[in-house]
Amino acid sequence: MLDVDLLAGPMRDMTGSGDEVEAARSALRDARRVLVLTGAGVSAESGIPTFRGEDGWWKRRDPMELATPEAFGREPDEVWAWYDYRRRLIADAEPNAAHRALAGWAGDGREVRIITQNVDDLHERAGSDDVIHIHGSIWRVRCTGCGAVYEDRRAPLPELPPTCDRCGDHPVRPDVVWFGESLPAAELRRVQAVFDRGAIDLALVIGTEAVFGYIRQWAELARRAGAMLVEVNPSRTGLSGIVDLRMAGKAGEVLGGLGDGDAP
Ligand code: NAD
Ligand code: ZN
Repeated sequence: MLDVDLLAGPMRDMTGSGDEVEAARSALRDARRVLVLTGAGVSAESGIPTFRGEDGWWKRRDPMELATPEAFGREPDEVWAWYDYRRRLIADAEPNAAHRALAGWAGDGREVRIITQNVDDLHERAGSDDVIHIHGSIWRVRCTGCGAVYEDRRAPLPELPPTCDRCGDHPVRPDVVWFGESLPAAELRRVQAVFDRGAIDLALVIGTEAVFGYIRQWAELARRAGAMLVEVNPSRTGLSGIVDLRMAGKAGEVLGGLGDGDAP
């Protein structure tokens, strides 16, 4: 059962401990099916900046301009160097308390499905299985000509986009979703399957601006499937107005304290 008080009242901001933390904890304790939607903010405490964060590269070039097929066509070496830089950052990063908490909640009859917009692999490295990467993976590349996909291409890659081994003709690109591109059909089918399986008890939206319509749509679908909808983000977002509970704080700190009640 969800805490009626949490659902009945206006949306609340929760920053500290108290009854509301306890209510969120008990919702988690009772939940059999948990859906988690994550964005760049969940990896921020691992040292991987969000596109809006403070960072030299991000200041020099606007990611909205670099993360496009047009940019790759125009200046492939610059886009490739940007991805190489991000690969190095991600390779050196460790999962944080948020990734670990989410991985730890699964099991004992509780299913935790993660749909991430992130191209890093920190959820997996923390121990989460079957993470749905709707924006692709930074470790995968694919040929712009024949479409061959190469898994697990670890850093360092050559500075310039390498040519495809299979066709020998075209450059390979990061197998990620760039602005203006559609979401991968296989991942969309996996998202659909999550909703087809019925009731969801708890849905968390963590570290995302939710600027993409589908994130908002999936949050709303989860709520319609019965979920208590909780946002974890230090700042308000486009979703803040529709969630049942807002936990204003960093993902690692908030989730680390939500689990089994033994956190400081
Ligand atoms: P986003 O929508 O993912 O926004 C980041 C959000 O995280 C903001 O709302 C911010 O308030 C919040 N945030 C910052 N620090 C946080 C913390 N410690 N805990 C919880 N929330 C925190 O937007 P973006 O960063 O502009 O990214 C746009 C696209 O690029 C998305 O697909 C995003 O996932 C992707 N991206 C991925 C990575 C990665 O794979 N790690 C990094 C940067 C961007
Ligand atoms: Zn090819």
